[in-house]
Amino acid sequence: MSGVSTSRDTLRDLSQIGLVQALGVPRIPQLRRFVAGAPLLDGPALVGSVGDGSFAKQVQALLDDAGVARAADEGKVAAVVLDASGARTLDDLAAIQQFLTPAVKRLAPVGRLLLLGPEPADAPDVEAAAVAQALDGLVRSVAKEVRAGATANLLVVTPDADITSTVLFFLSARSAYVDGQVVRVGAAVGTPEVADTLTGRVAVVTGAARGIGAAIADTLARDGATIVAVDIPAAGESLSAVANRTGGTALQLDITAPDAADRLLTHLRERHGHVDIVVHNAGITRDKLLANMDADRWNAVLAVNLRAQLAINTALLGSDVLGDSARIVSVASTSGIAGNRGQTNYAASKAGVIGMVRALAPQLAQRGATINAVAPGFIETDMTAKMPLGTREAGRRINSLRQGGLPVDVAETIGWLGRAASGGVTGQVVRVCGQSMLGA
Ligand code: NAD
Repeated sequence: MSGVSTSRDTLRDLSQIGLVQALGVPRIPQLRRFVAGAPLLDGPALVGSVGDGSFAKQVQALLDDAGVARAADEGKVAAVVLDASGARTLDDLAAIQQFLTPAVKRLAPVGRLLLLGPEPADAPDVEAAAVAQALDGLVRSVAKEVRAGATANLLVVTPDADITSTVLFFLSARSAYVDGQVVRVGAAVGTPEVADTLTGRVAVVTGAARGIGAAIADTLARDGATIVAVDIPAAGESLSAVANRTGGTALQLDITAPDAADRLLTHLRERHGHVDIVVHNAGITRDKLLANMDADRWNAVLAVNLRAQLAINTALLGSDVLGDSARIVSVASTSGIAGNRGQTNYAASKAGVIGMVRALAPQLAQRGATINAVAPGFIETDMTAKMPLGTREAGRRINSLRQGGLPVDVAETIGWLGRAASGGVTGQVVRVCGQSMLGA
């Protein structure tokens, strides 16, 4: 990672000595990221509700347990949580605005605004459906308005939603680069789990030798998981380094090989007995305009990014290796949502991953398991460091947080989805993109 964010760091250094404003360059906010032992929030939280407020009571209890102070009548707050899950009418929507307008003014730098809203498809009447959907537009807009690294997100909840691990993630520093997102939370699949940790969970990470995959391995291991690090034989040395520092095992494997799924299952059975978390992270690009695309480029990208995931998932589902409360997380891309010039093969593969996740979620729910996708936007890696300066700076800036994300931001999001306690979230695509304007 060293040396990849030089110009951004330079701007940050300049901003610290006050030159940036003098030059008229917008300040780049310093995001708050997870530090072991740090409090959930850096200040008090304001919790409110429109409607019956049963989730507001749950959230307040969670915050009390975490030692977060309740907001006084005035002064800055580190988080604002509004339970609007009972909103049904335009009058309710007006009450939401009445609550949020003064609350947003009080939001501190790197603050968290979290709304809980009802599912439009479950609305009892047309006005209620319109109001439920209105929250989507409201949150995506306020996410573009809040400044200084603050984020705004919406949880669309069913009345029986298991919200704990998701609320904790969105309020915490772990969600630093997740902004302007709408995530559905329902009842937990299988048996709801209480522990919000990865301790004792066995996690496979493909493409773990470097970049985002290495960060995923490090982050899941930090939170207690045992790592099975998978990458191609040519990356063997760095793969061993990741396995060694995380205390896990390494498996040199080209995931496109015909026997790849069998070899992975054998490794899991023999070395670990089972698997709890599968992170499909390995991915490649072979960019070319469609008019100039050859079959080799097309097939290579589809083979790594989609075909291998389909084959491994099929093998896992047909095996006795996939543990109870298993969690599968696929790394997609905002290119798979927005499309990108020169990336028909890559965007097709990543959109295909999203289709796979949605189709598999109901099947997995029957066995208490979930599957979700994360879609990174501009993440500071060796890949993005090699971009031409202009493209790179543009990529960094066209999002609400006005900077690129870090591999750890993708990893923290996967850690949340990988928790047994996150059984209320399945079939979702969560963008880790700072609310990128691409495909927004
Ligand atoms: P990277 O190229 O640094 O790392 C990818 C890893 O996958 C490498 O270690 C590589 O050896 C491994 N790999 C490739 N083919 C493999 C195969 N056949 N079998 C096993 N391992 C294989 O990429 P990254 O930037 O860390 O990206 C990780 C994931 O995130 C990819 O799926 C990528 O598409 C996605 N993504 C990245 C960004 C970004 O900004 N960097 C943005 C959106 C999505």
